[in-house]
Amino acid sequence: MILTPGVPGVAFGTIADGDGRTDLNAREAIAAELGISSDWALMNQVHGSRVVSVSTPGSVGEADGLATTVPMLALVAGTADCVPVGLVGDHSVAVVHAGWRGVASEIIVNAIDAIVGFRDHPHTAVIGPHIGPCCYEVGDDVVEAIGGYTSTTTWGTQSVDLAAAMRDQLGEIKTVHVGGCTRDDVRFASHRENGTKRRQVAVVWIPQD
Ligand SMILES: [Zn+2]
Repeated sequence: MILTPGVPGVAFGTIADGDGRTDLNAREAIAAELGISSDWALMNQVHGSRVVSVSTPGSVGEADGLATTVPMLALVAGTADCVPVGLVGDHSVAVVHAGWRGVASEIIVNAIDAIVGFRDHPHTAVIGPHIGPCCYEVGDDVVEAIGGYTSTTTWGTQSVDLAAAMRDQLGEIKTVHVGGCTRDDVRFASHRENGTKRRQVAVVWIPQD
């Protein structure tokens, strides 16, 4: 697991850690390593913009973000190129899964709203391993959908920088980046690289004092 320096309660898995959403052995190992329960709050990700506030473990059904005020309750997303984000407030947290559709629909704003709904404010956002502008080749439709943020792949074609778009949507919230490009870095599953169904988990929780 990759921890976030200076931000306790936000961790990102690698291929080696397994997909703890579906693999219960992997889940137990991840939970033990992070010192959290293996009863996780989970969601069926659909590239939408719905963020659900939860107070108990289990699946919320279709959603792409979870938020909570319950200490030690792990909020979990799975990604393999999409952007995982941990949002941290004073007494609440959220996790978000966002590909270009999630960026286009500004799901991160819904996560911010969920935390504000807890009478809190997000002070830090942690953007985890995702496909970088070095590798995220896209057509004009995606550029248009996310409002620009164009870049160039290492092989010279049009790409977009999802994290740059996300940072703008986060506004004044301090942003930390963890991990590298999922397509370049062999530690991470990459759907673009080989169509894998494997995912790495993003785990976000409120540490106990
Ligand atoms: Zn790359």
